[in-house]
Amino acid sequence: MASIAIIGGGIAGLAAAVSLTNAGQKVHLYEATKAGGGRTRSYRDNLFGRELDNGQHLMMGCYRETLAFLQAIGAKPEHTIFFQRNLAVDMVREGGREVTLRCPALPAPLHLAAGLLAMRGVGSLHKASAMRAGLMLRNEVRRPDDNETCDAWLRRLGQTNTIRSVFWEPFIWATLNDDPLVSSAAMLMAVIERAFLGTRDGSRLGMPIIPLSKLYVERAIEFLRSRGSEVHLGTPARKLCISNNRVTGFTLKSGETVEADTVITAVPPHALLDLLPDNHHSHPVFHDIRRLKTAPIVNIWAHVDRSPFPGKPFVGLVHSPLHWMFDRSHIEGERTGKVLLNATISGARAFVEDSQSSLQQLLADELKRFFPHRPLAIHEVRVIKEKRATISHAAGTYHWRPEARSPVNGLWLAGDWVRTGLPATIESAAQSGHDAASLVLAES
Ligand SMILES: Cc1cc2nc3c(=O)[nH]c(=O)nc-3n(C[C@H](O)[C@H](O)[C@H](O)COP(=O)(O)OP(=O)(O)OC[C@H]3O[C@@H](n4cnc5c(N)ncnc54)[C@H](O)[C@@H]3O)c2cc1C
Repeated sequence: MASIAIIGGGIAGLAAAVSLTNAGQKVHLYEATKAGGGRTRSYRDNLFGRELDNGQHLMMGCYRETLAFLQAIGAKPEHTIFFQRNLAVDMVREGGREVTLRCPALPAPLHLAAGLLAMRGVGSLHKASAMRAGLMLRNEVRRPDDNETCDAWLRRLGQTNTIRSVFWEPFIWATLNDDPLVSSAAMLMAVIERAFLGTRDGSRLGMPIIPLSKLYVERAIEFLRSRGSEVHLGTPARKLCISNNRVTGFTLKSGETVEADTVITAVPPHALLDLLPDNHHSHPVFHDIRRLKTAPIVNIWAHVDRSPFPGKPFVGLVHSPLHWMFDRSHIEGERTGKVLLNATISGARAFVEDSQSSLQQLLADELKRFFPHRPLAIHEVRVIKEKRATISHAAGTYHWRPEARSPVNGLWLAGDWVRTGLPATIESAAQSGHDAASLVLAES
């Protein structure tokens, strides 16, 4: 009998398991795949002869729950994550001209104000519009609610097209994984508050130096096993067993039954609905979950003979479908041999059905368009499409996300998409896992 069982071994499930194990509970975690990690994972890629991430993952200094999880499993973020000292972002325009944002070592939010004022590559009219938005955020205008789109909100704040294209829109695509025309301004505000209005450290960006599975997954599994909890990899759950509105366990795809009086599901929305017995689908909470849509991310990995932006870990591309480019070799401290480049397309609905060859051509075309003075040779290319990378944060959809406490007794919901107050990110996943664990402990 597994008294506390967790279904799903992504960040949310692992964070819940680590938290409960740390509190002295024995946990059984059931993960469908052989390695776990879910949407934050890496794998051995034979074409590249190395580990590749399923997609470049960024974090910010304000990822408190993620950093706590990493500390708990002994992952030592100071050695495994390349963190900027202060927020610094370089945006490149077609032809190679740059817009640079460097935030100085001042307390938040002055660091951002000073960074925006000193931004190079944009005129003072546009900087003034960003500054005005900053001032208005401090309670001078009505805060956005979840029905307002980012686009409508930026228009309300009088943001110029230029400051939108070099600052706001790249930030929105990156954090909300969706088009500013549809995504929720309230969700954006949640990120702004944590990243820019807390401490200066909150806004600095972090990039893992080591493969994602090594950083987040393998250590967590080792930690759990060494503390007496059990991790069952390659063991998909099939259906939850619910009797008199109380969970009693679940069946596995293998046909076995796992008995448990407390179950945390830490799977994406579609997987939770698959686990749910048919007679529970009509409950309003589960009915709303069905309404949540998803947004894809496409990552293009390429070996190139030299970096298009030498000396920099990453750049953003203004008005390009390739939102960001990362020099993984630079981030990992590898200065010899071929350069491993990553190009990320967020909210990639328009590209997710494209062939590998057309995406490879897109990469070649954009490299020529943005870095015409640094021609380079492209060698191996790998395209990774995550069709359901995150839920869509379209305006007006937040209230469909469920609370951690489900309508079924003993059943708790975790995952980046539950109601954490944050967009679906690693941080939201870690927070959801910690929240579910705290609720379970409070009830035991
Ligand atoms: C390409 C890409 C780039 C991203 N970039 C960033 C970024 O830069 N910064 C950031 O913060 N976030 C980023 N994200 C989002 C981040 O990856 C997710 O928010 C996070 O990984 C979600 O974790 P989770 O545990 O909630 O869900 P998942 O990772 O989906 O984990 C769910 C787990 O449940 C398992 N499972 C499903 N069904 C069953 C079943 N029936 N039985 C047992 N197990 C089951 C799955 O195999 C999976 O391991 C990105 C996502 C993608 C795809």
